[in-house]
Amino acid sequence: MFPLDDTIVAVSSPAGVSARAIVRLSGPDALKLADGVFLGASGPLIASNGFRAFDGRAVITATGIELPARVYVFLAPRSYTRQDVVEFHIPGSPTAATAMVSALLSAGAREAQGGEFTARAFFSGRIDLSAAEAVADMIDAADQIRLRSASAALGGWLQRLCRRAAATLTDALATVEASIDLAEENIALEPPREFARRLDGVARRLLRLADRAGELPETADRPRVVLAGRPNVGKSSLLNALSGTDRAIVSALAGTTRDVLTASIALPNGSTAILQDAAGLASPNDPLAAAADQAARAAVASADAIVFVVDLSEADSGTDVEFLRQARGANQRCPCLVVGNKADLLDSHVATAAMARLSSVLESAGIHSPRQLPLIVSATAGDGLDDLRRAIADCLHLSTDRPGQAMGLHQRQRRCVQAAAEASRRAAELLAPAGDVSDVAEMAAVELRAGLNELGQISGQIVTEDVLGRIFSRFCVGK
Ligand code: GDP
Repeated sequence: MFPLDDTIVAVSSPAGVSARAIVRLSGPDALKLADGVFLGASGPLIASNGFRAFDGRAVITATGIELPARVYVFLAPRSYTRQDVVEFHIPGSPTAATAMVSALLSAGAREAQGGEFTARAFFSGRIDLSAAEAVADMIDAADQIRLRSASAALGGWLQRLCRRAAATLTDALATVEASIDLAEENIALEPPREFARRLDGVARRLLRLADRAGELPETADRPRVVLAGRPNVGKSSLLNALSGTDRAIVSALAGTTRDVLTASIALPNGSTAILQDAAGLASPNDPLAAAADQAARAAVASADAIVFVVDLSEADSGTDVEFLRQARGANQRCPCLVVGNKADLLDSHVATAAMARLSSVLESAGIHSPRQLPLIVSATAGDGLDDLRRAIADCLHLSTDRPGQAMGLHQRQRRCVQAAAEASRRAAELLAPAGDVSDVAEMAAVELRAGLNELGQISGQIVTEDVLGRIFSRFCVGK
């Protein structure tokens, strides 16, 4: 899947401007390649003999740029990947980080693919597969519950549980296989009832785990919130204001936004959600609009919440009701917040009255907003945005610190746990009534091997390239 014996490089810090950017190398030539671009007062990095930090300058010859740099050296096997690892900490300019990576690529490093550093940690045996998955879960954690769950998995609870279950199954398998080999020799083995009891215990523990553990998303799933409303009410402006980016082009020309624009927004309590601008929910009258309409409809249909935006300065409740009906038609199950925008253009009591009028029109049209207090905001002035963030978090049920499960399983892991439990139970059922282990040895061995196979898919001892590919593709480059 990934070559393991070359030297890889990537920017390991998040995209964008920051205090520090981190460029990371891992592989047999990490120190040699790093020495090609680093000038430190204490001599070449290759001479270092353990974990060390060096201050100096990174010199990017091709561009003539010199940057102050602190370099951390982690010698194999005492590093994340168990290979030689070098990290350059440089000023957090994306241009500087990219120039640094280019210099190391021309010196002979290979650009790391997403998840490749963690894949090396897994293949070198430094972490098992459940811990590798937990690293991705931790990076993606959309709320504190998922963060706790990822931290528990990284701490090894799943690994320990699977190891204990696998030990019982391996023990039973060894006896079952011995009973076949030693059938003629009359050697007394433990009674089958005893194995059945232990295997039944394993089955129960695994099933309890599958029942009780929380649900982890298969991918980096964050809750998705869709902005809907007629053109020009300020959806793109709200997307920009809430996400703190210029992701959407804002224009006074109705219908400017053709695609479903997406940005990440921070919600109270440290959680995050994906915000999408479903512009284009209208009767299509040209092919481009038809495509935009389809994309908008698909976004609304799969949303976890709808924020329906109206323009308080230009009340047109008939059209608003029509747009809201369309949005509800595409998705009736998710909560819907109605938000009055452009409050800065009106006196506050006029804005409140306009919102009240609109709410009653919506109410009489049979469309209810789950919120009692009207949400009045101004995307351009930034008023009311904190209340809106709180309201979004509330309707996504992210705002209160739910007493959630500290342990979570991905669907794939849960399937493996359940299948391992069923195999253990079948082996127990075969062994329990048997007079001698050898009476049911062959069938019990098949079940025990099946159970071990399922547990091995959680730890990564037995796992196909396809599964590994899917797991590591969740990571971004540099992790
Ligand atoms: P969209 O079509 O719903 O995405 O609307 P846009 O975000 O493109 O905004 C349409 C126009 O309304 C632009 O000229 C914005 O600058 C303006 N606008 C958006 N929000 C506000 C607001 O809160 N106050 C005022 N005064 N203008 C706004």
